[in-house]
Amino acid sequence: MEPFNLKSQQWYVEDTALALIAREVGTPCYIYSKSALEQRWQSFQQAFKNHPYQINYAVKANSNLAVLNVLAKLGSGFDIVSGGELHRVLKAGGDPKKIIFSGVGKSAQELSDALKVGIGCINIESEMELSRLNEIAIALGQKAKIAFRINPNVDSKSHPYISTGLEENKFGIRMEDALLLYQQATELAGIEIEGLAYHIGSQITSLSPFIEALQKILPLVQSLKQLGIPLKHLDIGGGLGVCYQSETPPSPEEYIATLLAELGPLPLAIHIEPGRAIAAPAGVLLTRVEYIKKQGTQNKYFAIVDAAMNDLLRPALYNAWQEIIPIQPTVAPTGSSALYDIVGPVCETSDFLGKDRLLSIKAGDVLMIRNAGAYGFSMSSNYNSRPRVAEVMVEGKTFQIIRERETVEDLFRTEYLFTATK
Ligand SMILES: *Cc1c(COP(=O)(O)O)cnc(C)c1O
Repeated sequence: MEPFNLKSQQWYVEDTALALIAREVGTPCYIYSKSALEQRWQSFQQAFKNHPYQINYAVKANSNLAVLNVLAKLGSGFDIVSGGELHRVLKAGGDPKKIIFSGVGKSAQELSDALKVGIGCINIESEMELSRLNEIAIALGQKAKIAFRINPNVDSKSHPYISTGLEENKFGIRMEDALLLYQQATELAGIEIEGLAYHIGSQITSLSPFIEALQKILPLVQSLKQLGIPLKHLDIGGGLGVCYQSETPPSPEEYIATLLAELGPLPLAIHIEPGRAIAAPAGVLLTRVEYIKKQGTQNKYFAIVDAAMNDLLRPALYNAWQEIIPIQPTVAPTGSSALYDIVGPVCETSDFLGKDRLLSIKAGDVLMIRNAGAYGFSMSSNYNSRPRVAEVMVEGKTFQIIRERETVEDLFRTEYLFTATK
């Protein structure tokens, strides 16, 4: 049986497949449902109906080759932010013509690599980047396809660390400077203008910031047309949120339908860059309770688990809340539920996965952390010299390791003792 309930978009608890994976692969491990990834991607696709579109999955949300390959097979494009991500997408079978390159700090090497593989579009974020790309393209005898990333100065109302569309952020080009830069670009031999892009932030749970941004951008699109600079596509970025706790984000259908209505009859292909909304619900992190301890007279316990902030950084970084539940509910020795802080072994007080959770658990239980498919493994590190965890993909009854758990040797494979003599 598929351990992901496609109707409720939740992983089943009391699912024997998850317990089996925890036993055979060990914990901690990330598990992704292939069907869930496909379903999430297709819900965006179906929402476009007959409107021309390109879905560029934001690779940084979850960049495992198997995940990218599932989406590439559906015909997905990809939004990348580094040369490393470019090579991941190519390795996973992605079509270079459907890759767009975002980011404020692309190196000359990254730009040149992107042009050499025939990338679909490079989203330019500054005047200096435009002239660097122009020179590289000319040297390669190419015309680089570009969009400018415009900063629409809109408050996405998400956490400040994941808001990108305000003037005070480092991202994009100011609205006021856009027309001049587009005009400059038309005169560059190595540049071909394709579109306009913006991206206002992540985990956005209401439609209004998306509508506001589009309303601010559309007059700019019209002005460009009047200047004789027609665009082929409008890239509205990613950022659609998911329900971690009690948020009520719009569905992909609602989100796309609203923005298409706002766009009106403009014959512009719409590019979108969802990351979280595709990958988050499709994944869970399994972790085992190592110890339970009580500190002082507080009416609360610590459940010390084998996963930590280096494996799942979101709680420590943004105080993010993710549901944590035992995969095989048991009766705790205390006989009833108690309050727990779920913490890892890392030597930081910020090393928690959840706080004040009412749970009935005991040492040895396996816990599931939900909505961990995005910004989970991809943000993980080796902090405290902890090998990064295994990743598994499931489809129906079958499961397969798609990334081996790192070994202790992996941790220092690229390090050397200092042996040079004076
Ligand atoms: C991170 C990012 C995305 C994806 O954001 P989600 O919230 O995961 O949908 C899309 N576009 C750009 C430019 C990004 O930096």
